[in-house]
Amino acid sequence: SKYKSVALVIGITGIVGNSLAEILPFSGIPGGPWKVYGVARRPRPASTSHLPIEYIQCDVLDEEETYDKLSKLNDVTHVFYVAWDKRSTEDENCVINGTMLRNVLKTVIPNSPKLKHICLQTGRRHYTGPIDLYGKYHVQPHDPPFREDLPRLKSSNFCYTLEDVLLEEVKQKENLTWSVHRPGLVFGFSPFSSMNIVRSLCIYAAICKHEGEPLRFPGNRQAWEGYWDASDADLIAEHQIWAAMSRRAKNEAFNCSNGDVFKWKDLWKVLADQFGIEHYGFQETEEKVPSLVEMMKDKGPVWDNIARENGLLPMKLNNAGAWQFVDSVLSGKSLLDSMNKSKEHGFVGFRNSKTSFNSWIKKMKTHNIVP
Ligand code: NAD
Repeated sequence: SKYKSVALVIGITGIVGNSLAEILPFSGIPGGPWKVYGVARRPRPASTSHLPIEYIQCDVLDEEETYDKLSKLNDVTHVFYVAWDKRSTEDENCVINGTMLRNVLKTVIPNSPKLKHICLQTGRRHYTGPIDLYGKYHVQPHDPPFREDLPRLKSSNFCYTLEDVLLEEVKQKENLTWSVHRPGLVFGFSPFSSMNIVRSLCIYAAICKHEGEPLRFPGNRQAWEGYWDASDADLIAEHQIWAAMSRRAKNEAFNCSNGDVFKWKDLWKVLADQFGIEHYGFQETEEKVPSLVEMMKDKGPVWDNIARENGLLPMKLNNAGAWQFVDSVLSGKSLLDSMNKSKEHGFVGFRNSKTSFNSWIKKMKTHNIVP
């Protein structure tokens, strides 16, 4: 075979799955040349048609279907698990997501004799616990900056379930290694997925522009003025590829963020400029925090018009914008993690968050997600 490594990416249409699909096939990538299998639940979206991947439509919650479709792939060397299915309670999140990961590993580990390493993506929820619509935590979160060795919180958390399933399943095979990746707020490209803040803010901005309204910041003063960090989806992909290849990264969990801080004040100007909006910002006079869920409630028809006029990818407003998710992020406190462990283990990648934000907005435009 002309390939040195074979990736199986579960969640290829997701925000980080998309970056893995773009990056892995490049020449010169560590471990390459890579062959890439990409799994997702939906039929192959047009936005992936230019990528040299073998697309497999499969619902990994279905044990039989997973076995039928994935047991044939007996050349896989690395698994990148970047999927998740959001449910209404954390207990459900644990059951559903735990089952999905278990179905994949129970099939792939015994049927891929060359399998060496599994990268599992979870997130900062590991340190905060689940967060509700109003930015409130179920239990007292850890104090930031978050370090990887902080103890588990005493509440159910699908990040814990996934780690437990991973550690249980890797025992099946000697010398099979793993790494866990815990990004914070991800900046990246995905046409559909449930937690894409850049896509959601772009759609909000496009609606404000269309209606001649100012671009109000849908968050509180703490969020507007605080120091934030973010995780660029391409950087997360690089981090996972590094962990897959580096001896020093085996059997460890790592945070994964850009390595700088930003203020929403500064990114808001970037967003306003990209959509040609003159009036924007945080309104001092606001009685309560403006909510995107509320502001976008009646904008479905407006969005349909914008999409039609500009030849955008047809998508219902409430699927396109993750309003609840953005409301809960921007009405909460800013949180930071520490990248020391990654650096100490040899990963020195970083991103400029402002540049990252700007470039993902451009990509949304190029792919006709927004005008
Ligand atoms: P996503 O929502 O962007 O993508 C999910 C992917 O999983 C899609 O490709 C979807 O097709 C696939 N999928 C879902 N259910 C499936 C099923 N039954 N069968 C097959 N495929 C299925 O994913 P994401 O937001 O990157 O989330 C992945 C992990 O990253 C989660 O643990 C999440 O908590 C974490 N995370 C995300 C963010 C963020 O801002 N999006 C931030 C921090 C951590």
